[in-house]
Amino acid sequence: MIIDCHGHYTTAPRQHEGWRNEQIEAHKAGKPPPPRPRMTDDEIRETIAGGQLKVQRERGTDLTIFSPRAAGMGHHFGDARTSEAWASACNELIHRVCTLFPKNFIGVGMLPQSAGVSPKNCISEIDRCVSEYGFVGINLNPDPSGGHWQDPPLSDRYWYPVYEKMVEHDIPAMIHVSAACNPAYHTTGSHYLNGDTVGFNQLMNSSVFKDFPTIKFIIPHGGGAVPYHWGRFRGLAQDAKLGLLTDLVLRNIFFDTCVYHLPGQQLLAKVIPVDNILFASEMIGAVRGIDPETGHHYDDTKRYIDQLALSTEDKAKIFEGNARRVYGRLSGTIEKQSARAV
Ligand SMILES: [Zn+2]
Repeated sequence: MIIDCHGHYTTAPRQHEGWRNEQIEAHKAGKPPPPRPRMTDDEIRETIAGGQLKVQRERGTDLTIFSPRAAGMGHHFGDARTSEAWASACNELIHRVCTLFPKNFIGVGMLPQSAGVSPKNCISEIDRCVSEYGFVGINLNPDPSGGHWQDPPLSDRYWYPVYEKMVEHDIPAMIHVSAACNPAYHTTGSHYLNGDTVGFNQLMNSSVFKDFPTIKFIIPHGGGAVPYHWGRFRGLAQDAKLGLLTDLVLRNIFFDTCVYHLPGQQLLAKVIPVDNILFASEMIGAVRGIDPETGHHYDDTKRYIDQLALSTEDKAKIFEGNARRVYGRLSGTIEKQSARAV
C-alpha cells in the first residue's frame, strides 16, 4: 500500500471558499456571517474524481491523508469565533470526502487557531475530529499570525493543552503554517519552508519530548531547511549541551517527502534515517507544473522515491510502514473505512 501522508482539499467546491470570503467580510463589517452554503455529495464527488483521486490513480498511490487547504486556514483573519466556524466547516467537508471515498482518503483536521488566543480553544474541535470524524491527525500552525510570529514558540507550555490531547488520542501533528500576510514572505515558498525549519528548531530546543515522550510531529516539505543543514543543528545541539541531535529528536520528529527534485530526495534519504521518513506529495498543491528537465510533475514524488538506492524493505517503510507507526490510529481507521467501502 502506498500512503501519501500530505494532501489538502485544494479543489473544494467553489461555494466553500466563497462562504469564507463572505464570512471575513461580515466580520470586518461587524455583522454575523451568512448561513453556510449547501454542497451536494455529487458536487464533492466531482471535485475529487477529477482531482486527487485521478492523480492517485495516475501515479499509483492508494491512500491520501487528507486535510483542509493549508493556505486557506488563514488563522490571521477575524477572531477566535471566525476561526472556530471556518475550522468546523473545513473539517466537516473533509469528513464528507472521507465518507464518500473511504478507501482513498483518511482525514486530518485543521485547528481553530488565532494569534494571541490560547490553543486550549482548539480542544473541542480536536475531540470532534477524532471521535466523530475518525481523523488520525491534526495540522498545527506554529504561527497563526501569518508571518509575524507573535505567539510563544512551540517549546512553550502555552501549547501543552494541544500536546496533551495529541498524546491522549494517539494522533500526530504536522507542523504547517498557513498563508503569509507579511509581504516579506512568499506563502508556499519561504513562509512554508521557514515554518518547517522554525518548528523543528523550537522543538529541538525544548522539554516537549521529555514531558511527552510518545508525542509525534511531522515536519512537512522535506523538513524545510533541516536535512540540508543537519550538521548545523547537530552542532547547535552539541554547543547547547543538549546531547546528540539524533537522540534528542528522532523518536518524536518525522519528515515527509514533499521535495520536488531527485537530488533533494537523495539528500533527505541520506541524512535522515529511513524510519523517520514518510511518503508525501502534497499533490495539486503548491507546485502544479511539469519539470521540463524530467517531463513529469514536480510533485510526483513517488518517482523520486522509486529511483532512490534503497532496499525494497526500506521503501516499504517510507511508503507505508512509517505512516502506520506515526499515525497511531491509521491502521484501525484503514480497516474501518475499508469495511465501509465494501
Ligand atoms: Zn501542506
